[in-house]
Formats: sequence, structure tokens, C-alpha cells
Amino acid sequence: MKNGPTEGEKGIPRVSDERFAKEFGEVASLVEKHECMLILGHVDPDGDCIGSMLALAAYLMRRGKKVVCFTPGEMAEIYAELPLANLFVREAALAALAPDMVFALDAPTSARTADLVKRTDGKPVVNIDHHPTNERYGDINIIDEKASATSILVYRFLSSVAPESITPEMADYLYLGVLMDTGGFRFQNTNAEALAMAARFVELGARAHELAHEFIYVKKFSTLKLLSRALDSLEVHGGGKIAVMHISEEMITSAGGSMSDTEGFVDYAASIDDVELSALFRELASDEIRVSLRSRNDYNVAELAERYGGGGHRNAAGLTIHGDLATAKSQIVRSLEEMLALKVRPRQS
Ligand code: AMP
Ligand code: MN
Ligand code: MN
Repeated sequence: MKNGPTEGEKGIPRVSDERFAKEFGEVASLVEKHECMLILGHVDPDGDCIGSMLALAAYLMRRGKKVVCFTPGEMAEIYAELPLANLFVREAALAALAPDMVFALDAPTSARTADLVKRTDGKPVVNIDHHPTNERYGDINIIDEKASATSILVYRFLSSVAPESITPEMADYLYLGVLMDTGGFRFQNTNAEALAMAARFVELGARAHELAHEFIYVKKFSTLKLLSRALDSLEVHGGGKIAVMHISEEMITSAGGSMSDTEGFVDYAASIDDVELSALFRELASDEIRVSLRSRNDYNVAELAERYGGGGHRNAAGLTIHGDLATAKSQIVRSLEEMLALKVRPRQS
């Protein structure tokens, strides 16, 4: 059967689990055989990463497992307040832990986990992800680039092996993944499956309005002040088709706020009417610049990110450049201009 929507219970279309039936069964039997689980996410985790990790963590705990979660880098304050956020341990505590099974979620490459997926002493690694650039570093790889969020794949696993175990709290986490990775159901990955899954999660108890309010609508005063500085830095290139903006260390010092609270800032550059390609540059250290890329239509920013050692999806990708802000900006603007020049016209569908 093809991996498309099927008629689920209560008439809500849902995606067939058959494509990964074998993998899901293998993961379930590994879970039964092991006791201490480490769930890894990617550096500077976003809502999909964290939601996927905590939904899975809640399930594993219900199975009586000991669970810890770890992501390298910084977690935004809004996520640190989630009920299960206490499962996230600091790097120092990882060494004392002896997990006998490892999950890595929403992390396309070993590098995105600070190479922790490679340092597992032969313990089984389950890789669940939706990035087309996934390296398949796991012993079991559940990768579907058509899924709008990793949390949809976690749901497919849960609904395949233990459908009755999904609590309203888990539904909240699963919903958070779809909500954040579709930009509040606005991005090009807002497809029938994403919407059907969101409906399913609400049926299972997810609080759609509260989550949108807490994670998309409400902002700290300092975050908005920082946004105003970032917006001040907006420039357009390529005849108005490229928009770039930046956040320097100096802006954080003068406006307040924190780099980890800037998820979604790039969308302002991307929202300009004629813009097809956009970038946000964040100065993490004097020589480390995080670049977020966004595109419309067929422009593939994941390919560009990969050329710089990064990755992502066709319309949303990221990379890190070692160098100063001004150099990083002119380098990426040049690459974006080349992309524009190469593409006569994006396909209109
Ligand atoms: P961001 O710009 O950080 O919101 O990232 C956009 C998308 O690209 C997300 O799906 C990220 O997981 C992915 N991504 C960002 N940076 C990298 C990287 N260095 N390597 C691989 N994927 C990345
Ligand atoms: Mn992510
Ligand atoms: Mn994701």
C-alpha cells in the first residue's frame, strides 16, 4: 500500500504505518529488552525536536524505563518550562549515565548531536528524523522526508506499537512538533498529513489554542526589543528577491534577550512580499556565525547549506560559518545571488 492518507478511526484521514512496520516492531522489541534510555536531539533544539523527545520519553517512562534527554547547545526558555523538561540533563551528567539504548530525534547528522550518536559503545541507536539530508547513522533508521515534523514519525511509531498509551500530555508534545515545524501551519510543509495529524493530536487531548498562545504568540519584552534591532538590520539584494538580517553579540548586550529566544526571527525576512530567498545571521561567538536560510517555491536552500557543511529541508536549512559576521554575510549573499541567477524561474505549481 502506498504511504498516503488512509481512513483512520472516527473518519479522520491518517497515514499508513505499513512503510515502517518492520522498523517499528524492531524498535519495540529493543525497548522491551533494555532499561536505561538516552534520547538525543539536535543542537539548539527547536519545538519539533523537544516535542518529539518528550512524547517518546513519556511513552518510555510509562513502559517503566529510566529515561534521560540531552541536546547540545542552548534550549530556549519557553521549552525549559515544559512539564517534562526536568528530563534534560547537562553534559556533565551524561558521563555518569550508562544508557543501554539510544534514540536520536530530528537530528540529520552525527555532528548535530555533537557526535554523541557515535559514542555509544555499541549500544543500539534508533534514528528518527524527517530531514532529506539524514546520514542514516542509526542501527535502525526511521526517516521520512515527506513528514512535516519528526513528531509525526514518533506518533506513527506510538500508534503502531501502543496506540492506547498516548496520553493528552503526549498529544501536546506531538502537536508542538507539528505546530513549530510548520511555523504555525503557514510553511510549504503544511500538507494534508500535517493537518490531519494535528486534528488527531487534538482528539487525543492536545491543547491547540494554549500551545499556539504559549509558543507562537506570547513574546518576552526583551525578545521584541531584540527583534526590533534585528529588523533594523534588514537588507534586500538580488533586485528585492533576497532579504538578510542579523543579530550580533552587541545587539544582545544592548537590547537584552537571548540568542536561543530568536526562533522564528528569520520568518520576518522571509515574509517580505517579493523575497524568495532569505537568511538570518546570528553571531554566537566572535568567530562563529549561525546562518538560517529560508526559501520559497523550488529554491533548495538545503543544497546550499550542505555546501557549507550544514543541511536541512528544501525551504528551511541552516549552517555555521567560522569567521566574522560581515564576511559570512557577503559570502552567503553571493551564494544566494548565484542561486537566483541559476534559476531562470522557479516552477509555478
Ligand atoms: P533553523 O534555521 O535553525 O531553524 O534550521 C532550519 C532547518 O534546517 C531545521 O530543520 C534544522 O534542523 C535544519 N538545520 C539547521 N542547521 C543545520 C545543520 N548545521 N545541519 C543540518 N541541518 C540543519
Ligand atoms: Mn529541528
Ligand atoms: Mn523537525
